Amino acid sequence: TIVFDVQVVRQDFPILNREVNGKPLVYLDNAATSQTPKQVIDCIVEYYSNYNANIHRGVHALSQEATDKYEQARQKIQKHFNADKPHEIIFTSGTTHGINLVANGFSSILKKGDEILVSAMEHHSNIVPWQMLCERTGAVLKVIPMNEEGELLMDAYGELLSKNTKLVFCNHVSNALGTINPIEQIIDMAHQVDATVLIDGAQAAPHIKADVQKLNVDFYVVSAHKMCGPTGVGMLYGKEEWLNKLPPYQGGGEMIAEVTFEKTTYADLPHKFEAGTPNICGGIAFGAALDYMNAIGFDAISAYEHELLNYATKKLLAIDGLKIYGTSQNKTSVISFNIEGLHPYDIGSILDKLGIAVRTGHHCAQPIMDFYKIPGTVRASFSFYNTKEEVDILTEGVRRAKNMLA
Ligand code: PMP
Repeated sequence: TIVFDVQVVRQDFPILNREVNGKPLVYLDNAATSQTPKQVIDCIVEYYSNYNANIHRGVHALSQEATDKYEQARQKIQKHFNADKPHEIIFTSGTTHGINLVANGFSSILKKGDEILVSAMEHHSNIVPWQMLCERTGAVLKVIPMNEEGELLMDAYGELLSKNTKLVFCNHVSNALGTINPIEQIIDMAHQVDATVLIDGAQAAPHIKADVQKLNVDFYVVSAHKMCGPTGVGMLYGKEEWLNKLPPYQGGGEMIAEVTFEKTTYADLPHKFEAGTPNICGGIAFGAALDYMNAIGFDAISAYEHELLNYATKKLLAIDGLKIYGTSQNKTSVISFNIEGLHPYDIGSILDKLGIAVRTGHHCAQPIMDFYKIPGTVRASFSFYNTKEEVDILTEGVRRAKNMLA
C-alpha cells in the first residue's frame, strides 16, 4: 500500500518546479542520477555554513563536530544496509571507486588460470576493472549469459562455476534493463565453490533495501547520487575479514610508504581505505538522504514505483512499433525502448524540446546493446516523485516524436 502523497513529496524537490524549453520539467532520468530533496540540500548548506572543517585531525570544536557527523553518517549507512560493524562501511567517491578498490585488491590474490565470472548485463564500471585485473594477473573473465527477456541463465551460471572460480560480479539491478537479478541465489551458488562475490547495488539501492548480512554478500557497492544524495560519494560494504585481507587501494606502492604509510596504509579499518581528505559534506549528506528515503519508507517507494512502471509499460506499448527491452516480471521502474526505424537519439532530442529528460544511448552497457543488435535505447526511469501525469506527457511526447520522425 502507498502511504505517501506524491504531491507533498514533490514539494521537497525544488528542481521539479523549473521549466525546460518553456515546458515544466518532466525528469525521467532517475537511473542516471536522482534529484535532491531540500532536506539534503539544507544539510549541505548547514555543513558549509556552520561546521566546515577537516575531520579526524584537529582538536578544535569544528573538526570534532564534522568528525562526529561524518561518523554518524557511517552508522546510518551501516544500519540501513544492516552491516555488522561500522568499519565495514568504507566511504568512496561512488560505485566505480568501490569496484576499482576491490579489483585492485585482488591483484595480489589472484593467480594465472583463476576465473572471474561477470554477468552479461553489467555496467562498464563492472566490466573494465575486471578486464584490467585479468591483464595484471592472468586470470580469465567468463560471462554469465542472459535471455531475450533480460534475465540471467542460472543453469548456465551453475555450469560456469568451478573450483577455479575465484570471483563473481553481478549487478543487483541492471541499469539498462531494470532486471532485478536473483542475487541471493547467485551469492549462495558462488559460495558453494568458495568464490567471493561483489554485488553492484548502484541501481538497486534507490528502490530496494539490501540486507548485507542476510544476503551473506562479501562486497556491496552503491552511489549516493542515485538515492537522493549528492554526487561524488558512495559506500563500499565489505566483510571485515575481506577488508583486512585486501591491501590499501591508493598509491599501492613505494610512494605511499614514503608519504602516508604509517597513517593510512596501516591504519585500522575503515581508515585504511580512506586516505586523504574525503568528501566530508557528501558523506554527511548521504546520511541525510537515507534518513529522507527511510522516512517515506522503501516498501511504500517500491509499491508506488511499481504502479508507475505498470502504467507506463501499458501506455507505451500501445504505441505502434514500440519495443521494450528488459521484460522480466522482476524489474524496477526502468523502461528501455526503441521505435522501429527511428534512432533513439532523435527521439530523445524531441522529448528534450518538450521538457522531458530521458537518457538515450548504450547506457554504459554496450554488451547488452550488442546482444539485442541495437545501437542504443531510449530509457525512461521513474522515481517515487514522478506521477502518472508525467507518464502521460512522456507517452504523448513519444507519439509526437514518432509522427515527426516517421
Ligand atoms: N553500476 C551501475 C549498475 C550503474 O547504473 C552505475 C551508474 N550509471 C554505475 C555502476 C556507476 O556508478 P557511478 O558512476 O556513480 O560510479
